[in-house]
Amino acid sequence: MSHPDTTTETRVMTPEKLALMVELLPTADSLRDIASILSVHLDVVRRASAPFLALMKLNGTHPQCGCGKDRFHPYGCADSRAKSWPADCLPGQTRAGTVVMLERRRVAVEMLTQGQRFCDVDRALGMHKGTAKYYLRYLTPDQLAKRERNQRERAAKPVRCAA
Ligand SMILES: [Zn+2]
Repeated sequence: MSHPDTTTETRVMTPEKLALMVELLPTADSLRDIASILSVHLDVVRRASAPFLALMKLNGTHPQCGCGKDRFHPYGCADSRAKSWPADCLPGQTRAGTVVMLERRRVAVEMLTQGQRFCDVDRALGMHKGTAKYYLRYLTPDQLAKRERNQRERAAKPVRCAA
């Protein structure tokens, strides 16, 4: 976070960053972690995450803090202040989860660019059926064009989808 506070980049939540934020919300330890991964201000993440967290709350999928409250609850947490998270919080694990998520995305983008079918990407990455489609948003226009080319080539010698 060496950028000065005034740079526009750290003030703007681009669609790409918003998508990544939504992806990180369930496993991130803190909004501060998300802000640092996205290179945006904590305030930006606070504002942008509020409606999503409200929805998760409604759906009963809001991530929980080790203390039993909703994660990201205000005023900090006795647990995190003491740096002694209870076993069910596993900060190490959620950080590892973030690494896994980013790696999974890298592979998904690569496979999609190669023109692979959604069902094959889902299967290769052990994701729920239909998840791969979601990763299309991470492809650059260049990669999308490449995907279309590769798909046309694959269409010439189709492989049955086993799903
Ligand atoms: Zn707490």
